[in-house]
Order: sequence, then C-alpha cells, then structure tokens
Amino acid sequence: MARVIHTVQDMRNHTTQWRENRQRIGLVPTMGALHNGHLSLIKAAQQHCDRVIVSIFVNPTQFAPNEDLDSYPRQESTDIHRLQDEGVDAVFMPPVAEMYPEHYATTVSMTGPAKGLETNSRPHFFQGVATVVAKLLLATNPHQAFFGEKDYQQLMVIKQLVDDLHIPVEITGCPTVRDSDGLALSSRNQYLSAAERKQAIQLYKTLQSLQKAWRGQQDMNTAIQTATQTLLDNGFSKVDYLSICQAHTLKPTTDFTAPARILGAAWLGNTRLIDNIEG
Ligand code: AMP
Repeated sequence: MARVIHTVQDMRNHTTQWRENRQRIGLVPTMGALHNGHLSLIKAAQQHCDRVIVSIFVNPTQFAPNEDLDSYPRQESTDIHRLQDEGVDAVFMPPVAEMYPEHYATTVSMTGPAKGLETNSRPHFFQGVATVVAKLLLATNPHQAFFGEKDYQQLMVIKQLVDDLHIPVEITGCPTVRDSDGLALSSRNQYLSAAERKQAIQLYKTLQSLQKAWRGQQDMNTAIQTATQTLLDNGFSKVDYLSICQAHTLKPTTDFTAPARILGAAWLGNTRLIDNIEG
C-alpha cells in the first residue's frame, strides 16, 4: 500500500530505513495528471529498484507568470489510486510551502544543455526544474531516478546537474510513450480540442520528415523551413523551434556522422507541444 508523504522529514525517515535494509530506491518525479508515459517510468523503476517513490509536485518556479500554473491539470486522488494499483511504495506530495518556505533563498542556475531550445522561449524554466529536481533528490535520496526522453533537453540538463553537483544518483532516461497515431503522451494534451487533437499528430510527422532529411544528408536549413511551413499549414499557430542538435551537448550540429537529436516546440491554439526523436 503506497504511503502518501507530505514532508521532507517523513520522506527521509522512510528512505533511511530502506537504505538500512539495503534496499535500492528509485524515484520518479512527476507533476501529476498521470498517464501511460509516467507509468512506463514507474515500471522501469520497479524493474531496477526494491522501493519506488513517485513524487507529485506542480513546481511553481518552473512556470512564468503568464504560463499555465493555475490551470495545470490536477487530479490528486485519481493519481494516488492509480499509484496504489501500480504498487508503488511511497507517493511524495509536498505542499508548496514545504518545498519553498518563506525563508527560501537558493536556486540552481545552469548553462550547458540548458542553453537554447526551451530556454529561448522560457528563460526561467530550467532554473525552476534544476532547483526542484535537486531538492527532490535530496529529500528522497534515491539510488536511481527515472526521466522521460519526451522532455529530452530536461533529461540532458538533469544529467549535467547531478554530475556538476556530485549528487550520488544514477539518472535513467526512458523512451517516449506515444498514442497509437504517434502523438507523444503529455498531461497538457488534455487542453487540446477534438480538432486540435487531430492536428497535433503533425508535430511528430514533421520530426519524422526532418529525420528522413537528416539521414539523407539533405540541406537541413531548407528542410527546417519546409517543416516549419508544414506545421503552420496544418493548424499550428506558431513554431518556437525545430532544431537538429548534437545528442548530448544539445548544441546545433551539421555533423551527419555524430549522434544527433531532432527537437521541436510549437503552439496549437493556446497549447504548447514539445517532442523530439533521434537523428
Ligand atoms: P511531467 O509530469 O510532465 O513533469 O513528467 C514527469 C516525467 O514523465 C518526466 O520525466 C517526463 O519526461 C516523463 N514523461 C512525460 N510524458 C512522457 C511520455 N509520453 N513518455 C515517457 N515519459 C514521459
């Protein structure tokens, strides 16, 4: 039966005990509104670890004032039931005041893979993510933590974070889970109207067309221009970026011989979708 834990102290009491029992602890950080993408991370954690903690925390510091913090989907009791069915050991759900008490004065700021892509449109974002992930790792003290490739830049940022701060945890990236038509699962897909949901698939299709162009060693500037126009012609209102990057540093690349990642972010009405695939 999953325990629902609200304080850092209580969380540490549990993990200290588990560590004393020589149990391997896995953490899956989420913002809730759980879907099968989250569940795939939990399954991976259960395969590798004896105890699995899922955190649910809608982190205010990664939202800008004009973003969707207030409307972000919250379905706590459904999530808890689902996690109980999945057999997780603990659900860590700290209130905002537990993570950011009034005297709070420390943030983690990053460059490297945090530069460009998401940061160009959301300059505050990775500072919020890096700060909360550092705090969640310190609160739960896991041996291994699981993140989705769906948020590929975030995964690279977190690998850099634990390296730079010498946080003793293994970071594992898990493949993106998609709907049958290819749309990457996301809690924000709930915002899409029925018409937008049909159009949304075009983002993945566009990334696939860029992958084909990349693998055919075509002129990628032209390919990106065409892909951007295809999105705009298919109902997307704005394209924040379509980029081919070196797979680990996330610096833009034209080197067809090195591992690459193709990443995109675009708006369908009021909903911002992101996705990525390998080059
Ligand atoms: P979120 O609740 O959106 O912050 O996501 C929590 C974790 O689930 C992050 O590591 C995400 O990358 C991961 N995740 C979200 N959607 C998917 C997906 N469709 N497939 C795999 N992992 C995902």
